[in-house]
Amino acid sequence: MKYPETKESVEVELTKTLISYRPVTSTEINSCMDYCSKWLQEHGLVVEVLENKGLKIIVANLPNNCKDLPKVILNGHIDVVPGGENVFKPKIENGKLFGRGSYDMLGAVATMMIVMSDLTKKDSLKYNVSLVLVPDEEKGGQDGTKFLVDNGYLGDFVICGEPTNYDISIQSKGVLQVEITVKGKSAHASRPWLGENAIEKAMDTYKKIKSLKCFEETNAFFSEKSFNLSTINGGSVINQVPDECSFELDIRLLPDQSVEEIFNLIKSEVPNIKISLLRRGEPVMVDENNIFLNRLKTIANKVTKGDIRFIGQYGTADTRFYSEYGVAAVEFGPVGAGHHGPDEFVYVQSLNDYRKILNEFILN
Ligand SMILES: [Zn+2]
Repeated sequence: MKYPETKESVEVELTKTLISYRPVTSTEINSCMDYCSKWLQEHGLVVEVLENKGLKIIVANLPNNCKDLPKVILNGHIDVVPGGENVFKPKIENGKLFGRGSYDMLGAVATMMIVMSDLTKKDSLKYNVSLVLVPDEEKGGQDGTKFLVDNGYLGDFVICGEPTNYDISIQSKGVLQVEITVKGKSAHASRPWLGENAIEKAMDTYKKIKSLKCFEETNAFFSEKSFNLSTINGGSVINQVPDECSFELDIRLLPDQSVEEIFNLIKSEVPNIKISLLRRGEPVMVDENNIFLNRLKTIANKVTKGDIRFIGQYGTADTRFYSEYGVAAVEFGPVGAGHHGPDEFVYVQSLNDYRKILNEFILN
């Protein structure tokens, strides 16, 4: 998508301010949260600041929110990945706003804040709208969004402003991370037949697990498989048959595959081998007929004159925490490129369009 150069808008100004807070460490993130909290209050929102493990979380509501209406949550993360000093000095070139977080996702956060401010001026809203700003999505989201959902901050439809170039992510893969420890028997390397080589056994075990049919499956959203041998440890000296080898697998499952069932299947396929569950993460799967979702798509298509698609994400985002509670949560954000890299940018015009889309979605 190509965008022309435009003059600086309020979305851009606010995004630049957020970037300049360099929200990487807890202290920097909390300072940025303090700024957002003050800004939101000054613009008429009712702001609740929560604190969990030293990190601040913001929940901002419209003063005219009506509890009986369906609830829409706008979710944004304040934290960004680290980078050199330069990426925290935002600049505009050729219609692009460069800077760490411009695309992932301080541009979306700033725009969501402005949308909330826009909404305070409207009457008879059809939704109850909340903006939540969380501090730790890049580190897994356990202390931010997970903390919120576990404490009842739920709704009917959630938009996480992750960078999607206006496509709407309605699926993400589940996560299964395991450690497998294989035992053998040590012997002198010159007489390997007297021992049992744990590394060779581990290799056989790895191949057996990888060849399971469930890891061959793909679907319309995910054409590639995500099965990764991440670490391996075994053996101590060259003249010995190793008696132990362990390795870690990071496996991403299709949304309709059960993490628990597949973990049990692995255990039954390689009996007598120690398998530890390191981490599991639930998938995201939003019904393609969801009424909020289709309204969002229609409006986004109208504003951008684009051809917006439903997509799947190989990695995870905070949407999964809502998904665990059966709440439809999508990733939907503006147009840019280079997130987590040195040349991250968002198109200025796309922030403006993003504001229009969110406003129209909530008002119509
Ligand atoms: Zn992000």
